[in-house]
Amino acid sequence: MNATGPSASHVAGLIGRHLPMRREPGVVSRIDCAQVPVHRVVLHSREIDALIDTGEEPAQLARRLHESARQVVPELGNSRIAQTRVAHRPIPVDAFPSVGAVPSVPGYYEAVSHSGITLGPVIGRLLASEILSGKRDEMLADFRPERFVP
Ligand SMILES: Cc1cc2nc3c(=O)[nH]c(=O)nc-3n(C[C@H](O)[C@H](O)[C@H](O)COP(=O)(O)OP(=O)(O)OC[C@H]3O[C@@H](n4cnc5c(N)ncnc54)[C@H](O)[C@@H]3O)c2cc1C
Repeated sequence: MNATGPSASHVAGLIGRHLPMRREPGVVSRIDCAQVPVHRVVLHSREIDALIDTGEEPAQLARRLHESARQVVPELGNSRIAQTRVAHRPIPVDAFPSVGAVPSVPGYYEAVSHSGITLGPVIGRLLASEILSGKRDEMLADFRPERFVP
């Protein structure tokens, strides 16, 4: 099962498969905040992501994120940035998930999606069923890995 997120293209390459992916890094900051019921909040903004390739330091990008969040949620005023990283989204080149078996490589499956948080449960259920039964579910028809050919 190739469910290696941003490394999926590299792992596919280990078996000679071509899985083209986009390059879309994102700044993700975690803040600690005692004042609101959620004690750890993850901040993210597409506008700030657009600054990654300008060379601005991640710490500075995190400060921008934090400032934006405080404008929207004043209760975050005394919160502090706990962790920041620039992460890569696992996005196949056409932006759709790549999910299911690859008929030319028996026993190899892919589960690669940018929407892994929202779609993870249904992808897991459909793939487990496909692996156990060998039957292909129509719900995955538009997301089949074989749409990528070298
Ligand atoms: C900036 C950003 C924005 C996002 N926005 C959204 C969103 O709007 N909606 C949403 O649903 N999701 C979102 N996500 C989540 C993300 O896009 C993925 O969908 C989610 O992380 C997928 O989880 P995964 O388990 O497939 O991969 P990952 O969480 O990346 O896990 C992959 C795992 O594979 C392991 N691995 C890598 N290489 C190897 C190897 N060679 N051998 C063994 N193990 C290996 C890694 O260590 C890791 O544990 C976002 C993520 C980021 C970074």
